[in-house]
Amino acid sequence: MIPFNDPQPIGKENDYILMATNSGKLSGDGPFTERCKLFIENNFNANHALLTTSCTHALEMAVLLLDIRPGDEIIVPSYTFTSTVNAFILQGGIPIFVDIRKDTLNIDESKIEEKVTSRTKAIFVMHYAGVACEMDRIIEIAHRNNLYVVEDAAQALTAKYKDQYLGTIGDLGTYSFHETKNYFCGEGGALVINNEKFIKRAEIIREKGTNRTSFLKKEVDKYSWVDIGSSYLLSEILAAFLYGQLEMWKEINKNRKRIFEIYYNGLEHLQRRKMLRLPTIPKNCTPNYHMFYIIFNTEVERNQIMTYLRQHGITAVTHYTPLHLSQMGQRWSADTEQLLITKQTSNTLLRLPMYYSLSASQQEYIIQVICNIANVFTTNSTLAGRIL
Ligand SMILES: *Cc1c(COP(=O)(O)O)cnc(C)c1O
Repeated sequence: MIPFNDPQPIGKENDYILMATNSGKLSGDGPFTERCKLFIENNFNANHALLTTSCTHALEMAVLLLDIRPGDEIIVPSYTFTSTVNAFILQGGIPIFVDIRKDTLNIDESKIEEKVTSRTKAIFVMHYAGVACEMDRIIEIAHRNNLYVVEDAAQALTAKYKDQYLGTIGDLGTYSFHETKNYFCGEGGALVINNEKFIKRAEIIREKGTNRTSFLKKEVDKYSWVDIGSSYLLSEILAAFLYGQLEMWKEINKNRKRIFEIYYNGLEHLQRRKMLRLPTIPKNCTPNYHMFYIIFNTEVERNQIMTYLRQHGITAVTHYTPLHLSQMGQRWSADTEQLLITKQTSNTLLRLPMYYSLSASQQEYIIQVICNIANVFTTNSTLAGRIL
């Protein structure tokens, strides 16, 4: 069976874990956390990065920093992970769902401003598959309406919009190091603080509401409880693994680009015949090749191909159920339009195996299997005349 993902160490991850466990410093904010933080700040031009236990927690920190309160409205895509939205719902925020663009599957920036009301507090965007949202437009809308921008860049570390790294453009950005991401440590994340006014309070919220960070920097002579907070520090053991991954980021990106291109070139003839659609990467985006997805014409075809692949030992998987249609999301979506592209994408998208050690021969096999079923569809003429 070819798995969908296979997270394995590829550099010095295990050596660094041993160093961490032998060092006598296992809790957070030790030398490996510092190395990861500086690595992210220096290589990806992040103003101020804080390692966290997850991207979910980094998003929760963002919400506390923005002081989102009951009744505040947040504009957000429906096609995203639950954490993007749960983070502010925990504080009483209200999701205002917006449809996505058909090309990048990111929030449709042309549909944001019509949703702004006097209660709108922020726009939470998510860069799907490591391809950037149309950030110039989004930042312009936010400035005009006095809104904060948070980038859920869980999938997008090292990717760029024009010359800016994703996660460093909005007021706050968040990364994930979950094992399903490009650079991982099992569970982990980071908060990037681009708006300076949030730095001090972020350090406090992350340290259980204490000014321990100031104490460690010798700015105060003892630390105490000064604000709300929680426990958001990544263990040094995980930071050690993560540093081993971050050191390899160029190698990882090079390999993922190669895998992406093999899929693209192998399946492009099916796109030309309008049997499926491949990812679009706009000119002003430098992706990190986080995923390779295919969009089929119908849900039936997507499901048939998924089953066929599974029968041939290949794990391909669907992705998000639209949040506004989910059991929880329906609490807020009475007022929501249909969000047609979100719904259509959710029903027809399929993700192919994508991980560092996926071999060229495995990929060749996957492509072959997909081409087979496409032929079956053609002879049944289920696709005839359909327009994507
Ligand atoms: C993976 C992911 C998250 C959650 O990341 P964790 O580190 O597992 O909390 C949030 N948002 C998006 C878009 C993701 O892809």
